[in-house]
Amino acid sequence: MRTPLVMGNWKLNGTKDSVTALVNDLLQPANEAAPKAEVAVCAPAVFIGMVEQLASSSKLQWGSEDCDIHTQGAFTGENSPVMLREFGCTYAIVGHSERRDYHKESSEYVAQKYKAAQENGLIPVLCVGESEADFDAGRTMDVVREELKAVIDLCGIKSFEKAVIAYEPIWAIGTGKTATPEIAQKVHQDIREYLASFDAEVAAGVRILYGGSCNAKTAPDLFSQKDIDGGLVGGASLKAADFAAIIKAAVDNA
Ligand code: PEP
Repeated sequence: MRTPLVMGNWKLNGTKDSVTALVNDLLQPANEAAPKAEVAVCAPAVFIGMVEQLASSSKLQWGSEDCDIHTQGAFTGENSPVMLREFGCTYAIVGHSERRDYHKESSEYVAQKYKAAQENGLIPVLCVGESEADFDAGRTMDVVREELKAVIDLCGIKSFEKAVIAYEPIWAIGTGKTATPEIAQKVHQDIREYLASFDAEVAAGVRILYGGSCNAKTAPDLFSQKDIDGGLVGGASLKAADFAAIIKAAVDNA
């Protein structure tokens, strides 16, 4: 039995005022979603302490948008998984396509981030997904398998007992082009089958979120698919009413 998870990814957005208003508006939807569905927001590192203060007595969980492979030392500008944990983070997104692209993060490097997050008490949210060219060429699962295999090689298949996967087709992120429920379901099913070739029990238990222009309109059909366990939501997670509607879709399909 997989509990659906709806997670916001704020990216590089927010002010003290907007974060305060947004988190306050999400406390009730998150409280009401429990225990049927879980709700989390992943915030820019500078806001994580604020989110902790605002949300700590609620069911709303929070996390970081990335984390470093090191826990401390001379790594200017990085965020340690130990520090993130100290500020109450439950999750750390790793391998978001924007970081793989703009920061040239390889699958092996992402796997090291996943490992560092997990070893320090965070649940890594491993983002995988193909470019439009790979989608058009039918190479989706070649890309996704390579991204998953790097983690399996470094951390083992059992590590997915304490991780979340987010399938995010790059062509759908921030473009308004949501993958159809059928396309998304097929990839989620293929991901589960690939993991099952290593360990069927782990594959059946891991939550696989869909991400890519998921919004209040598209979430109900996406979340009704049998291998889609919720969403990783960018743009629509910045508006409380839209995000609350997505949370409701997860609850309705739990
Ligand atoms: C994301 O960046 O993780 C994402 C899914 O963005 P959007 O919902 O805006 O496409």
